[in-house]
Amino acid sequence: VKSKAKKLAQSARSPQQAAVLGAGIMGGGIAYQSAAKGVPVRMKDIRENALTLGMQEAGKLLNKQLERGKITGAQLTRIIASIQPTLSFADFDRVDIVVEAVVENPTVKRAVLQETEGQVRSDTIIASNTSTIPIGDLAQALKRPENFCGMHFFNPVHRMPLVEIIRGEKTADSTLAQVIGWALKMGKTPVVVNDCPGFFVNRVLFPYFAAFNLLLRDGADFRQIDKVMEKTFGWPMGPSWLLDIVGIDTAHHAQQVMADGFPTRMKTPEQNAIDLLFAAQRYGQKNGSGFWRWE
Ligand code: NAD
Repeated sequence: VKSKAKKLAQSARSPQQAAVLGAGIMGGGIAYQSAAKGVPVRMKDIRENALTLGMQEAGKLLNKQLERGKITGAQLTRIIASIQPTLSFADFDRVDIVVEAVVENPTVKRAVLQETEGQVRSDTIIASNTSTIPIGDLAQALKRPENFCGMHFFNPVHRMPLVEIIRGEKTADSTLAQVIGWALKMGKTPVVVNDCPGFFVNRVLFPYFAAFNLLLRDGADFRQIDKVMEKTFGWPMGPSWLLDIVGIDTAHHAQQVMADGFPTRMKTPEQNAIDLLFAAQRYGQKNGSGFWRWE
C-alpha cells in the first residue's frame, strides 16, 4: 500500500506551507510533526491558551530530541519558528494544505470547514482529522469537495506511523496525491481507505469499547480489565487508560457517530461509563481526571 501511495504522491508537489485548525492533542501533534520534517505550519485555534499549550508541547518534544543529540540548538530554534500559532485566518492564502483537527462534532466541523474554504485559495487542499465522521457528510458543507478528504492521524502523532487517508465520493486523485505526499514527508505510512463511519481503524476499535462498556455495566472493574489486557493479552495499555489518553469527550462524540452509523452492531448500553464520565466533564488526561486521576 505504501508503494502505491508513493506512486500517487510522485505526481504531486509537496506542500510549501501547511496549516492545522485546532491546537489540541492532535492539532498540536500534527503541527509539530510537519515542522520537524521541514514543512512550516500555521496552527490556528480559537483559544489563546490552547496555542500556548500546543507550543509548550512542541518545545518539550524538541528539547528531548536535543538532549538525545538528534538535533542541534540551531535546528530546534528553526523548527519552533516554523510553527506559527494564530487566532486568525490571516495569510491563509499562502497555505497549500490545511488539516482540520477541532472537536469531533459534525456541526462544528462543517462550520469550520466552510469558513476555511472561504479563506484559502481555490487550489488549497482541505483535509479532516476526524476519527469517525464520514467524509461525505462533512463534504456537504463545501463548494469544492474534490479538494477535500480525510487525513486521520493517530495519537501520539510523533510516534504512531499510520495515517488513514479517506477518499470521499467526490475526492479528486490529485487531492489524495498531495495529502499522501505530505504524510510521507512527515515520515508516516499513509493507507487509503473508503468512506464510512469510523473508516477502517475505528470500525475495528469501537466494538472493543462497546464490549468494555458492557463488562462495566455488568459490574466488572475497569482496573482489572486493563490489567488483563496488559498482562495476559500483552497490549501496551488497557481500554480505560487508552480512553483517558484519547480524551473522554472525543470518545463520547465518536461513540455517538458509530452508534448512529451502525445502530445494530455498535449499540452501547444506556448510561455507559463513557457517557457518564463525559456528563461529569471528566475528559481524561487532558483535564486531570477520567477513569484515572492524572497529575
Ligand atoms: P482536543 O480537545 O485536544 O483539541 C481540540 C481543539 O480544537 C481545542 O484546542 C479547541 O480549542 C479547538 N477548537 C475548537 N473549535 C475550533 C475552531 N472553530 N477553530 C480552531 N480550533 C478550534 O481534541 P483532539 O483530541 O485534538 O481531537 C481533534 C480531532 O482529532 C477530533 O476530530 C478527534 O476525533 C480527532 N482525533 C483524535 C484522536 C485522539 O486520540 N485524541 C486521535 C485521532 C483523531
